[in-house]
Amino acid sequence: MIPEIEKASAAEIKAFQEEKLKETLQYLDENSPFYKRFFKENNIQISEIKTLEDIQKIPVTTKDHLQRFNDDFICVPKTEIIDYVTTSGTLGDPVTFALTDADLERLAYNEAISFACCGVGKEDTLQLMTTMDRRFMAGLAYFLGARKLGSGIIRVGSGIPELQWDSILKFKPTYLITVPSFLLKLIEYAQQHEIDLQATGVKAAICIGEPIREQDFSLNILAKKIKKDWDIELFSTYASTEMSTAFNECEKHNGGHHHPELIIAEILDENNLPVSEGEVGELTITTLGVQAMPLLRFKTGDMVQGYNEPCECGRKTMRLGPVVGRKKQMIKYKGTTLYPPAMYNILNDFSGIESYVIEIFHNELGTDEILIKIASENTSEELLLEIKDHFRAKLRVAPKVEFATSEEVEALRFPPLSRKPVDLIDRRL
Ligand SMILES: [Zn+2]
Repeated sequence: MIPEIEKASAAEIKAFQEEKLKETLQYLDENSPFYKRFFKENNIQISEIKTLEDIQKIPVTTKDHLQRFNDDFICVPKTEIIDYVTTSGTLGDPVTFALTDADLERLAYNEAISFACCGVGKEDTLQLMTTMDRRFMAGLAYFLGARKLGSGIIRVGSGIPELQWDSILKFKPTYLITVPSFLLKLIEYAQQHEIDLQATGVKAAICIGEPIREQDFSLNILAKKIKKDWDIELFSTYASTEMSTAFNECEKHNGGHHHPELIIAEILDENNLPVSEGEVGELTITTLGVQAMPLLRFKTGDMVQGYNEPCECGRKTMRLGPVVGRKKQMIKYKGTTLYPPAMYNILNDFSGIESYVIEIFHNELGTDEILIKIASENTSEELLLEIKDHFRAKLRVAPKVEFATSEEVEALRFPPLSRKPVDLIDRRL
């Protein structure tokens, strides 16, 4: 089930998106209090925006806009709103997203074609290991997508390995939808309870929320750990509430496919201009066909690379590589641009490291410094050297690395008000 437009030529896809863009601009100009004002303030004549290139005349929308003018983004009366979703905002207060009946239908379509991208069909049964409530969009999207595709779906929710296994053994799902690190917990439980991992009937996992691949699309440490004990196919996905759209891998596993009927994707540099092909930039999106809360040139904060060659699966749409990092966590270190996930990958490679925390701060010259504190039983100079060499080999530069006691590292990783461990302490702000 590949939509025709995804098999069309680049020129056809562009022309198709330009039609959709015109409709979207017209719709925003008529219905969005925020964009009506935004167009006026920035002297934008929407009739002059005809091509995908013209869109650069319109200033970008930021998370800050979304938070400060949240209600002004809603284009429909309250009577049309069916579902309410919230996301955590950058300024603290959550941002509300509203969905109409048509938006839920669009979400179902998005998830159905994204599941199909991962090879899910009517004959499959999915086990949903994320929550469907708590004002999250994703769980609901998975359910609606499975329903549209005609696949079975078992709503187990997050956590509780015992219940997950009970459900896997009872209903024989073929796909799991899960945070990949949770698969390690399932493996551990299976091993402790003599469940034969090879005889479960599970073919694959659709992995959300955490990366499973390196930038060259090879499996990362987490994915290798999973596959060592449980050799199921792992599909990477990337999505967000703001986009209301997913980028799922196909069976070729070389990036998440763009669905041109749902979203316009730009990859922009510091000056909000498109990066050259092969460069990393900030994903900036324009939703298509959204009724309640469409977004125009919204900066996602995610740094990504796009790939434009046609895929062997038959889709000719752009593919997104694994998210390189969050824009605000970008580090300029000795002339090299780094993101924390690349450093985590390197540190996770060393089984001798018990725990670590990365500190970033400005030195007296105002440039970025990195200090990595590691706890290890082996506190030899050789280990420090080995870590630094590994950094140089992978990232061209080696940050400062020093030993600390595990108590010190844990105290930094679990600050009093944080609910999650912190791997990165950014003191630059
Ligand atoms: Zn493909």
